[in-house]
Amino acid sequence: MSTAMSTDRAERLVALLPEAGVDALLVTDLVNLRYLTGYIGTNGVAVVGPGIRVFATDFRYAAQIAEQVDRTFERREVPRNLLAAIPELLGEGELRLGFEASHLPVSIYTSLLGLLPERVELVAVDGLIERMRAVKDAGEIERVREASALADAALEQLLAGGLAGRTERDAALELEVAMRRLGAERASFEPIVAAGPHGALPHASPREVEIGHGQLVVIDWGAQLDGYCSDCTRTVATGDPGAQARDVYGLVLEAQLAGLRAVRAGAERRAVDAAAREVIDAAGHGEHFGHGLGHGVGLAIHEDPRLTQTAEGQLEAGNVVTIEPGVYIPKTFGIRIEDLVVVTPDGCEVVTSISKELMVID
Ligand code: ZN
Ligand code: ZN
Repeated sequence: MSTAMSTDRAERLVALLPEAGVDALLVTDLVNLRYLTGYIGTNGVAVVGPGIRVFATDFRYAAQIAEQVDRTFERREVPRNLLAAIPELLGEGELRLGFEASHLPVSIYTSLLGLLPERVELVAVDGLIERMRAVKDAGEIERVREASALADAALEQLLAGGLAGRTERDAALELEVAMRRLGAERASFEPIVAAGPHGALPHASPREVEIGHGQLVVIDWGAQLDGYCSDCTRTVATGDPGAQARDVYGLVLEAQLAGLRAVRAGAERRAVDAAAREVIDAAGHGEHFGHGLGHGVGLAIHEDPRLTQTAEGQLEAGNVVTIEPGVYIPKTFGIRIEDLVVVTPDGCEVVTSISKELMVID
C-alpha cells in the first residue's frame, strides 16, 4: 500500500468526522485498519483526528509496522493488551472519541469505558471507513482485476480435469489449491461446489458426494490477492442437464444481463436489483430468487454497497459489485451466474472473463 494513498485516506476520514459528531475515531476493525494504515496483522489499533494520527501494536509486529504502516502515523509499540494502552494514545483535553460500533464487542466497550478518563466521551459511529472503502481507486481496481483473472485461470484448470465422478469436496479443494498455486494468498471464501439438487441451496457446503452425469453444478469461488478479493459463480453441466435446466439457465442469464445493463454511476441500487428480478418474476420464478442481486467486494468479500430490494442510495463510479441472480428450485437444481463488475460513469466494466454460455463438461 503506497504511503501517499494511505495519507489521503486518513485525511478523507478526518474530513468525515464532524458529520459523525466526533473529534477522533478509534479504529479497531482489522480490515478498516489495513485500509487506513497498511497494517496487516491481528493486533492493532489506530486513533485518527485532526491533530492526531497514531497506530499501536505489540512487540510481535514491531518489525512489520516499520514496513507496512503509513509513515504519517506515529507508530507505537505497547503491551499486548492494546485496550489498556488506548488512554495514552489520546493526547490532552476533552475528546469525543468515535468507536466502530458494529465491530467492537460489548465486553470490550465496557472495559474501555472503565479505562478512559472522564474528559473522553465514547460515541458510537458506524460505517465511516466502510463508506470510503466502497469507492475504489485505480490501484484497488487493478488488484481486483488481478484477483479475478487468477480465479478465472483456476476454474479453467479445474474444469480441464472434468467434474463427473469426483466429489464436490474434492473439486472445491482442487479449486482452492489451484488458486494458491497461481499465487493467491487464500481463497476469498470457502468455494462452493454444489451438484444437482444440492445446488438449490445458495450457500451449499461441498459434500463428500460424487457429482453425477447430466447434472447442473453451481461453482462459486474467489481468490484473495494482495488483500483484494474476487467473487464469481458459474453453473456448468456434466452432460445434457435436460430441457427445464436449459430453459432456466437461459432465464437466469437473461436476468443477469439485464442487471448488468442497469449498472452505472447514479443508478438507484434497488433499481439495479429490480432490473434483474423483474425478468425472473415475469417467468414465474420470483419465489425461487430469495437473495439480493449483488454486493460490494474489496478487502472483504461482502462489503458496501449492497444491491437488494430494499437498498437505499445510488451506485457510484469506482464501486466494485457482483451481479448474481439465481433460481433455486427445491429438490431439483440451482442456477446462479455471477460476474464481478466495476461501476463506471456510463455503465460498467465486467472484470470476470469466463464465458456465460452453458458449459457442458464431462
Ligand atoms: Zn460468489
Ligand atoms: Zn457474491
